Amino acid sequence: MYDVIIIGGGPAGLTAGLYNARARLNVLLLDRLAPGGQVLTTDWVENYPGFPDGISGFELMDRMKTQAEKFGLKIQSEEVIKLEVSERRKTVLTAGGPLETKAIIFCCGATWKKLGIEGEEKLMGKGVSFCATCDGPFYRNQEVAVIGGGDTALEEAIFLTRFVSKVHLVHRRDKLRAARVLQERAMSQEKIEFIWNAVPVKIYGENGVEGIELKNLKTEDVVRKSVQGVFVFIGTIPNTNIVKGLLTLDESGFVVTDDHMQTSVPGVFAAGDVRSKLLRQISTAVGEGATASYAVEKYLEALE
Ligand code: NAP
Repeated sequence: MYDVIIIGGGPAGLTAGLYNARARLNVLLLDRLAPGGQVLTTDWVENYPGFPDGISGFELMDRMKTQAEKFGLKIQSEEVIKLEVSERRKTVLTAGGPLETKAIIFCCGATWKKLGIEGEEKLMGKGVSFCATCDGPFYRNQEVAVIGGGDTALEEAIFLTRFVSKVHLVHRRDKLRAARVLQERAMSQEKIEFIWNAVPVKIYGENGVEGIELKNLKTEDVVRKSVQGVFVFIGTIPNTNIVKGLLTLDESGFVVTDDHMQTSVPGVFAAGDVRSKLLRQISTAVGEGATASYAVEKYLEALE
């Protein structure tokens, strides 16, 4: 039986894994794919302390994984299907079979939210994208739309200017949600044109994106804008399917914990973007991963 199974290998999970492995617990980290989480789709991280010139999302996560493995963290690619939980024994049911553990740290992060409009599903991978780092280079000298006014939308719009001839940044209000430094940078970019108070209502095209229909929320007018790519960055939804009905979630579906990352079920902890909290950053995920790992140690001591 494992002391602790960590589900999810983003910054929170890898940090919890590093700490628990270093504390010589019998720990296993499970990730559906390879570890790294959403940061892997971030081109450049410039607000994680210790890297004054910034660092690529891929390199940062690769370093976190290498560091955790150096202390003996075992990482397995495995999809978790269900959790069965009692006070002394917890079973993590995976596609490869059941795994027994005394404690769980749940760090499954969040997934990009979709617009839910006509054409989005049909043209996904054919011009509709949720990752500028992955798909940006396909749009060299073309025009694209970026939807959203948060940190992700602005960061990715700025990144896209390396390739595209124009970014039409569509935001549903006339004030951006993103950090000031990103606002200033985006506003000074000649290739970014802001379309305020507008939402997309349709993405059109036969075999690829040909354009987008935008509704002005003040006038109700709908106009067509010819673009070859649509990048959607309108926030995230938590990956909580396997804990619905087991853990207490907030009204938006994020996992509720106390200050020690303890969820509503003793011995099940949560950390990172999946948690109900004020600020979703790599730095906050890392701190929560460390706290959860220490709380697990205390929990295991109390069990003995
Ligand atoms: P977010 O902060 O939730 O912003 C989502 C944006 O999309 C908002 O501007 C929102 O408009 C808009 N939006 C939401 N639903 C929409 C819809 N149905 N149609 C049109 N527009 C819609 O999401 P995020 O930018 O992905 O960021 C998620 C978290 O990660 C945040 O905590 C953010 O600070 C953090 N993050 C940080 C960094 C960084 O520090 N470098 C980078 C990326 C993300 P309203 O503004 O009107 O609500």
